[in-house]
Amino acid sequence: MIFDKYKNSIKTRLIINVIFIHAILMALIVFDMLQREKAFMMNQLLNKGEDLTTILASSTASALLNNDLVALNELISELDNVNDYYMVFILDKNGKVRASKPKKYFNYTLTDEASKTLIQKVNNSSKICSQTIHNELVDSIAKVYVNDAVVGYVRTILNSRTLSDQLIVMTTNGIYYILAAIFIGAIFVWFSVRRMTANLNRLTHAAHEIANRNFNISLPDVKQKDELALMINAFRVMQSSLQSYITTIDKNEKRLTLALEGSSDGLWDWNLLTGEMYLSPRYKEMLGYEESEFNDGFQSWKESLYKDDAKAAIKFVEDFLQSDTTAYEQSFRMIKKDGTLLPVLSRAKKVYNKEGKAVRLIGTHVDMTEINRSHQFLQNIIDGVEIPIFVHNREYAVILQNRTAKEFLASVSKSKLEVSEHHKLLKDALEKQEISKTIYTYLDTDNRESTVELSLYPVVNEQGEVESIIETIYDITTLIRAQDSLKHQAEYDSLTNLPNRILFNDRLQQSIKHAQRYHEKIALLFLDLDNFKQVNDSLGHDFGDKLLINIANILEHSIRESDTVARLGGDEFTIILDKFKNSDILVDIIQKIIKSININHIIRGKEIYTSFSIGVSIYPDDGEDTTTLLKNADTAMYKAKALGKNSYQFYTADMTDRALERMMLETNLRQAVQDTQLEVYYQPQVNAKLNKVIGLEALIRWKLDGKFISPEIFIPLAEEIGLITQIDVFVLTTAVKDFINLKKAGKDIEQVSVNISTLDFTHNEYINSLHQLLQESSFETKFLEIEITESQIMKDSTAATKQLQLFKEMGIKLAIDDFGTGYSSLAYLKQLPISRLKIDKSFIDDIESDKDDQEIIKTIIAMAQNLNLNVIAEGVEDRIQKEFLLSAGCHEIQGYYYHKPMPYSELIKVLPHKVRLVY
Ligand code: C2E
Ligand code: CA
Ligand code: CA
Repeated sequence: MIFDKYKNSIKTRLIINVIFIHAILMALIVFDMLQREKAFMMNQLLNKGEDLTTILASSTASALLNNDLVALNELISELDNVNDYYMVFILDKNGKVRASKPKKYFNYTLTDEASKTLIQKVNNSSKICSQTIHNELVDSIAKVYVNDAVVGYVRTILNSRTLSDQLIVMTTNGIYYILAAIFIGAIFVWFSVRRMTANLNRLTHAAHEIANRNFNISLPDVKQKDELALMINAFRVMQSSLQSYITTIDKNEKRLTLALEGSSDGLWDWNLLTGEMYLSPRYKEMLGYEESEFNDGFQSWKESLYKDDAKAAIKFVEDFLQSDTTAYEQSFRMIKKDGTLLPVLSRAKKVYNKEGKAVRLIGTHVDMTEINRSHQFLQNIIDGVEIPIFVHNREYAVILQNRTAKEFLASVSKSKLEVSEHHKLLKDALEKQEISKTIYTYLDTDNRESTVELSLYPVVNEQGEVESIIETIYDITTLIRAQDSLKHQAEYDSLTNLPNRILFNDRLQQSIKHAQRYHEKIALLFLDLDNFKQVNDSLGHDFGDKLLINIANILEHSIRESDTVARLGGDEFTIILDKFKNSDILVDIIQKIIKSININHIIRGKEIYTSFSIGVSIYPDDGEDTTTLLKNADTAMYKAKALGKNSYQFYTADMTDRALERMMLETNLRQAVQDTQLEVYYQPQVNAKLNKVIGLEALIRWKLDGKFISPEIFIPLAEEIGLITQIDVFVLTTAVKDFINLKKAGKDIEQVSVNISTLDFTHNEYINSLHQLLQESSFETKFLEIEITESQIMKDSTAATKQLQLFKEMGIKLAIDDFGTGYSSLAYLKQLPISRLKIDKSFIDDIESDKDDQEIIKTIIAMAQNLNLNVIAEGVEDRIQKEFLLSAGCHEIQGYYYHKPMPYSELIKVLPHKVRLVY
């Protein structure tokens, strides 16, 4: 019972604990004090014993010396009134008892261990020696001297019994004190603990009341500032806030209940941890049940779903629980009490605990009957519309579409409008809240292209937000086609399908703009069919039309894709040509066009030849706008017609001449080379000092229509069009043949020079021909000199040097032609395998008057001598020139002064026979 009280009451526990600790402490103190007191008393007894022994020793000396037993016994008896006295022994020097108390020890010799060690101890050291026995007896012994001689011993033993009696009294008193102290302590503890526990009891009581929802308790205002006081104050605060919380919760709960009962939506709340599921009264009411008729719980929920929907719903919820999504929306059908079905929209949300784990699912059921009905109503309406209609929600998903829309989707096989573009349009409509229209094309399942106009109408709700977007698709294919064909009719010629005047003007305008920007040229060709009137008159308009169509086709194929050919009307065509590099290329293009249309057409079995007169104007040279260009091309065309049809004229006359000349030249030169209409003339080279022909220069000649054309004109052309090597090979072959014949005829001649172009080095034709000539004839390389102009060598020096080195190794001589015009350096000349310099004709021409030229000639001659080269002057026409050259040290001369270039037939007459000297 006491143990229970101890366990359950802080008060009892504290009192018992205090008494217990008190008692132990007091007992320890009293015990310690007793111990000290006893030790002190024993010490006093020892001193007393020693004093007694010393006094006795001095008073017994003579009696002991004289063995006066009576005196000794008398001395002992005097001790009877001494406290604590217990035993006394007076011993002679041999240790025999002379007198003692009790008397029975007379004449004994003390042989016990204690006596023996004590006597021995006192003998060894001091006068007196003592020991305590059992902490009760004090045993002292002293030597007895007479004149410094030990005559015996005195030994006393005192008892501490009186001492013990005193200690008992003291101990008893100590215990009384302890008990008193414990009692007073216990009373004090009892008082203070009572005060403390009183507050605790009050708190306990208050907590009990609050637990029972009684908040009307008052706790006393505590003045102290101790822990309990703080606790009471904290409790008071807690009490009032708890009170207001509970009031709010009560209010909310009431409101929630009201809301649930009032809402038209059913509510369910599923605790995922316990599996409990709450179904709201409205939930049950929606299904036609009274609150009490329908149980809460998952099973009831499941059973209220319609057959297949139940499975689907459970699967859906399972998936939802496993997914990361926090909410869902799903339509289900439920079975009502009367067996009919109720369509509901189920919305649910996960509720998470602090650890982020979904612990509850809360959801609503919305009765969809009405909504479905209006939805169907809407569906019926839009299904009646022939245009595809889609309604998108804010996430762009289609929430409604009509029958036509489905058919439209099924008919599209390939749309030009990509899904991402479509989303972009929807996004724009959503953000800008504006109606937008977009046109795009698609291929249907039959691979026909259709064009549609897509319109987006954002539907804005009362809050000003776009709720949905209506999309309509309007097929505009026929419209577009009609537009296209109208446009085509407006811009194209109906007979030939070529661009008409309107489109032509447009294109020319664009070309001008482009050319202006990039600083390019445009050519405008104006073509007019020669004698078309006659064709029409004799063969009929139908035939004429066919011919025009034919020509249009040909023209279209003879131009580049970027160029434009148009029909202006009647037999007039125009062509816009741009991006040509130079007039030569332009002439090539025109030439090609002419070639393609000046042909025999076979139409309805009849053959007819057509030719054109063409006028050309150039932007910007002949005009900077369409009108001027067209006018000038027209003028040029009339000029061409006037000059005899079947030709073309540039608006700028001199351009026509140059182009024509070059074109003719090219064709004729090709012909001439092919037909070997070329000839080789020879101009003798003379040593003016000896007046002797030393060599010949072979020069090409071309006679066209009885007129010589200068090599200065056709050699550069031949180089340009790749005929030069063929020409040079021809000259070389002819020169070699003629030289052999001259030799055979006994003519005095040392060598022949041929001119070559560095282009001859680019392929092996020239060198191969040379090798062949050397093999097949008696011609030797020492008879040959090659002339190459200074400027050509300078142009591609390294390649040329290599080739010239090869010639030199073969034994062929090399002359630098037109020397003095190319600014070559002396250092460079030294590296070349040259044997002769030919001073250019231009320096010779003004020798008489021009001092500078004289200086140059002198310098060249000096330089040649310096380099150990021969030097020859060409183009020498008179005596003064010859004289000057001779005086300057140049003896070799070529020029009209001696000989003009001449054909072989003449040369053979001019050259002297070789003189054989006879000694
Ligand atoms: P070139 O090599 O400087 O030939 C000398 C030119 O000066 C020749 O003109 C010649 O007829 C002319 N000539 C000679 N003496 C006189 C004179 O006293 N007065 C005047 N006014 N002219 C004189 P040609 O034959 O018309 O040749 C012109 C250029 O054509 C040559 O200049 C040469 O560079 C080139 N050429 C001629 N034949 C050939 C050839 O077979 N192959 C190559 N690649 N070029 C050749
Ligand atoms: Ca020459
Ligand atoms: Ca020359």
